[in-house]
Amino acid sequence: MNKNNGRVHTRFPPEPNGYLHIGHAKSICLNFGIAKEFNGLCNLRFDDTNPCKEEVEFVESIKEDVNWLGFSWDERLYYASDYFEELYEFAVKLIQKGKAYVCDLSAEEIREYRGTLTEPGKDSPYIKRSIQENLELFEKMRAGEFPDGSRVLRARIDMTSPNLNMRDPVLYRIMHENHHRSGDKWCIYPMYDFAHPLSDAIEKITHSICTMEFEDHRPLYDWFIDQLIEENKPKQYEFARLNLTNTVMSKRKLRQIVEKGFVQGWDDPRMPTISGLRRRGYTPEAIRDFCNRIGVAKANSIVDVTLLEHCLREDLNKKAPRVMAVLDPIKVVLLNYPENQEEVLKAENNPEKPDAGHRQIMFSKNLYIEREDFMEDPPSKYFRLSPGKEVRLKHAYIIKCEKVIKNENGEIVEIHCTYDPETKSGGNASNRKVKGTLHWISVPHAIDAEIRFYDYLIQDDQPSEEETENNDDFLSRVNPNSLIVRKNCKVELSLRESSPGEKYQFLRQGYFCADSKDHTPDKLVFNKIISLRDSWAKINRKSNK
Ligand code: ATP
Ligand code: MG
Repeated sequence: MNKNNGRVHTRFPPEPNGYLHIGHAKSICLNFGIAKEFNGLCNLRFDDTNPCKEEVEFVESIKEDVNWLGFSWDERLYYASDYFEELYEFAVKLIQKGKAYVCDLSAEEIREYRGTLTEPGKDSPYIKRSIQENLELFEKMRAGEFPDGSRVLRARIDMTSPNLNMRDPVLYRIMHENHHRSGDKWCIYPMYDFAHPLSDAIEKITHSICTMEFEDHRPLYDWFIDQLIEENKPKQYEFARLNLTNTVMSKRKLRQIVEKGFVQGWDDPRMPTISGLRRRGYTPEAIRDFCNRIGVAKANSIVDVTLLEHCLREDLNKKAPRVMAVLDPIKVVLLNYPENQEEVLKAENNPEKPDAGHRQIMFSKNLYIEREDFMEDPPSKYFRLSPGKEVRLKHAYIIKCEKVIKNENGEIVEIHCTYDPETKSGGNASNRKVKGTLHWISVPHAIDAEIRFYDYLIQDDQPSEEETENNDDFLSRVNPNSLIVRKNCKVELSLRESSPGEKYQFLRQGYFCADSKDHTPDKLVFNKIISLRDSWAKINRKSNK
């Protein structure tokens, strides 16, 4: 890093044509991270040179997401569209140097003339235009005198270059389109390959970090810089893009998933967008940790989504308060517990966090437990509740199942138990051991909650990035059962105070997040973030043996 006198200046250059996804998080962590590590700066630059696809909604969401991830561009927020005038001047300069010309070939003819990987291209018949004529025509292109697609400005490099990108690439095209920032001021728009290196140069970027598919464009990047920039020349560096199992990552594909109604929006908790992950309950710390762990390489690879989940669990385990919730309730009646009695019990908030303190939970004669925690006719190693057997109720007493009450259809409606008053948790005689411990909620103190359970949006664990850009095969792999809503869940009283975005561990069930849009004091709505079982850690332990 001794070039540029050790100065490091990077940029994150999103195109505002969709919401940012977890792949962008890798690029954000890399660009802002390198700047931080080397005492440099990182700009946020909207690469908004294409007027058709861009929207203000996306600009706002991108700013919010970069901030939420924990990075700041300070006052260095830029738009490539703010450089349109300077870029135009650069193009004029190329024409003056005899290095660019106006070409009247159609898009199809340009393609034919370009040749192929095995055959050289041939010169455009317009390559011989004089500098003067080119200058006049380019000015008229800008003035709006020609229809869309009738002419382009091209660099004059080498139609026989083995690198197709160097065969007189297009610099400007005519598009009579309104732009989200420059309005109707322009009807010619620069191409990415031209605008990007020069925007980097205008901002005095030192390290222009991009993904591997731009490797073949680097000679062209350098060509523009060498033709037009005297000092502070930026350099392009490539790294492999992130691919994740069970995930599609291109904005174009995510847009289709949104527009075809497979999800409820870009921030649907099933989406791999930053806003979707945030709403699901991901933390910025977990995402940054994940980006650090996957590292930076040139070889393309597919990262297992369970590693991302592992990073999230590690973070939530430290932070999330423990509470009790019964997701599929069945009623337990304690036969020997006084009818109108209730009791306040003490429960620790987080065993991983000594200063998290305790809270009060309510106990009474009628309780809910999880339906799957009872079996009438259990196999031998079943340590939950069954007839004649004992379990501990977390933070409370040991209970014993005495009787099962069924309705006329033979379905269990109530479980009748007795409790042992000598076994109160934390009390003197609490050391009597039983194998199973269950979570529970006192019936008169229970609060109703809606809980949304998610599965992977993409069923197959192959990422679709391997497919070609226009392959829409991923749509057939969208999981039709990726959302299950349960409305009659019961949660403990303390959750009445929970606000949108707050995260909890529901004991034995996993991590849950109060939904940022739909959770209100009158209607509690939680998203299941993730289960407690860590398949990544398990697989890794096995493979390390
Ligand atoms: P997509 O294909 O998802 O639309 P893109 O590359 O077109 O992505 P841009 O807005 O142009 O999206 O990207 C902004 C930056 O993020 C670029 O530097 C790009 O290389 C990087 N980036 C995009 N996708 C990934 C990814 N999957 N992994 C790492 N970096 C990525
Ligand atoms: Mg793009």
